[in-house]
Amino acid sequence: VDEFFLAIDLGGTNTKVGIVEKTRGLIDSKTVSTIVKDGPERAAKLWADAARPWLEKHKVLACGIGSPGPLERGTGVLHESPNLPGWENFSFTEFIRKLTGLPTFLDKDATVAALGEWCFGEGRGLTDFIVVTLGTGIGTGVITGGHVLRGSKGYAPEIGHMVIDDNGPLCNCGRHGCIEAFTGATAAALRYNESRGYSSSLVNIAEIFSRAQKGELAAGKIMSQWSKSMAVALGNMINIFNPQKIILTGGVSKNWTIVAEEIQKILLHEAFEPSLKCTEIVLSKLGNDGALLGAAHLAQTQL
Ligand SMILES: [Zn+2]
Repeated sequence: VDEFFLAIDLGGTNTKVGIVEKTRGLIDSKTVSTIVKDGPERAAKLWADAARPWLEKHKVLACGIGSPGPLERGTGVLHESPNLPGWENFSFTEFIRKLTGLPTFLDKDATVAALGEWCFGEGRGLTDFIVVTLGTGIGTGVITGGHVLRGSKGYAPEIGHMVIDDNGPLCNCGRHGCIEAFTGATAAALRYNESRGYSSSLVNIAEIFSRAQKGELAAGKIMSQWSKSMAVALGNMINIFNPQKIILTGGVSKNWTIVAEEIQKILLHEAFEPSLKCTEIVLSKLGNDGALLGAAHLAQTQL
């Protein structure tokens, strides 16, 4: 018997809404602009509108939402998220349940991406792996010993905010030298602009890497800094978790092949050899669909 789940992948710019069947995977999806200033209630109504044709057609059992953290899983409320100002103290789970009648569950976006990889992607059959989402920020979802790592209240893991140089650049979170402050796409673009001594519009990381490959020195410097910081970050993850795989996803992962060899080289010094030897670093094949598949799995398992 087909079992359908509604899946929502909340992002600061766009939100994806999808319908997933338990064994067949993602059946259909739509993208809805996230208009932050209109507030969470308006946004949730648009998601429910997008889902309505599917809810009429299929017997949908529950809804899962992946969202930027920090958030409270139990109440379905976001804490202050830098990209969603004014969206605190609103229970998405309660409101979506009211609109659709579906039991609704919420979890962090990177954790949900890890669930997607576990069921449908590179994480299938594994007990220990880490999903790293490379984008504006650095998200991490950790499966360790066959369990989802969430911490006591569900705020963990925030590996992107591990400090790797306390004299490093200021991070969005208020600390200095977090992994994200070095390897987040926006942070890297800002440093590229700074290093060239003038502020023009930000260049994306793909462009920086491409200029570096063409021999531009400023871009080359940013790219090697990025690779070094990323290797330190991955080395820490490998040493702490001894994962079978690290699965990379998110917009910036499309540029991974350019820096992969360099990062593997640096990793020889940054991770313990036995642990490094049994960790495979791979690119997600699910791409953006991973989060929707994971949100559906969240709904299925929490139901
Ligand atoms: Zn930080």
